[in-house]
Order: sequence, then C-alpha cells, then structure tokens
Amino acid sequence: MRVVLLGPPGAGKGTQAQIIAGRRGVPAISTGDIFRANVSGQTELGLLAKGFMDAGELVPDEITVSMVRDRLAEPDAKVGFLLDGFPRTIPQAERLRSSLQELGHGLDRVLELVVDEDELVRRLSSRRMLVDGQWVQRDDDDPETVRRRLHVYQEQTAPLSGFYETAGLLARIAAVGSVEEVTARALAALGQPGPERSDPTGQPSAG
Ligand code: AMP
Repeated sequence: MRVVLLGPPGAGKGTQAQIIAGRRGVPAISTGDIFRANVSGQTELGLLAKGFMDAGELVPDEITVSMVRDRLAEPDAKVGFLLDGFPRTIPQAERLRSSLQELGHGLDRVLELVVDEDELVRRLSSRRMLVDGQWVQRDDDDPETVRRRLHVYQEQTAPLSGFYETAGLLARIAAVGSVEEVTARALAALGQPGPERSDPTGQPSAG
C-alpha cells in the first residue's frame, strides 16, 4: 500500500495515518513529525526548518524532498507507506512521482480528508499534544499562525487535489464525526474492508 493522505491542518491526518498504517502494516511517515523531532534534537535540519514552521510557512521543497527520499529508502518503507503531510506542493508531488518511478513503484491512492474551515479553526485552537507527560499547544497552533497555515494550504497544497484527480488517484472523504467513523470511511475509500467488516467476531486483527 503506497498512499498519500491529503488535507488541511486540523483535518485529522496524523490520527488517521497512525490508525490506518497500523492496520495495514506499513509505516506512517509524517514530515511534520520528522521536522519537529529535528527541531527538538536541535539538528542542522531542525535549525533550518524551525523558522519556516514557526511562521506557518512551508519548509523549502529541496530540503523536504531529500528528507522524504531518504526516509522512503529505509527498509520498513519497502512494503509500502502512508505519507502524512507530504507532498504539499506540486513540485513535491512531481518529485515524489519520479522518485517512486525510479524504484519501480507508483502511488496506489491519494485520500483527501475534507473539513470546512470554521471547524478546522475550532479544532486547531483547542488541539494539545503530549510532551514529557504534559499537554501543550503546538508552537504553530496559535491563532495567527493557524490563519497563515490555512492560507498556505489553500495557495500551495489545495491544487494537489486536482493534480491527483487528473491522475485518477484521488478519493475524497468527509473527515467529520468520530475518529472511528472517519477511519471506516477511509478504509472503504482505500478499497479494502477494515478488520471490523472482514471479521464477523469484531475482534481487532493485524489488518
Ligand atoms: P504538519 O505537522 O504536517 O502540520 O507540519 C508542520 C509544519 O512542518 C508545516 O507547517 C511546515 O512548516 C512543515 N512541513 C511539514 N510537511 C511539509 C512539507 N511537505 N513541505 C514543506 N513543509 C512541511
């Protein structure tokens, strides 16, 4: 399974990526998480990325693309992957296509999580993450940066929806309701039933 999750900040990509990837036995690869880990570790990449992230801007394509290329070359991504937060620009999508082509692969599906903007703002302003046992707000979830990130999404990332629709890869689902409801829609859109449907006992399975 080689899948991209597309959707604005606050659509729930990270949550769904973890669940779906776990069920399908592929790694969930989040460029935002990789950048955040590098920022906390104060690596060279983290220092480069931090200013862009704090401003709600995208990290430049050349930095992001080579980082993803390296990640996709790791052994666990051989069986497939679920990309969360990449690509975010048309040039990134083109570079992803050519990198996969070189490996003799292509994407199976691009799943777009659709949520209206008012709901996104509500979700992002109340979102907290657990760091060292404490619930904290992400640095880029303050109201001004959220507005900027949503604007950047509309300008630079939303065109990917048309790009992947033309390629015949796009499936859109409404990312509203409970986490379980969204997961069920996502698994249905990915073309294979989830464990709940295939297992009449309702026991979770490895997927
Ligand atoms: P996320 O956790 O996906 O919301 O990403 C947090 C931040 O990391 C974004 O606002 C960007 O600054 C940066 N980032 C994550 N993924 C990408 C990407 N594919 N291209 C450029 N910047 C990215």
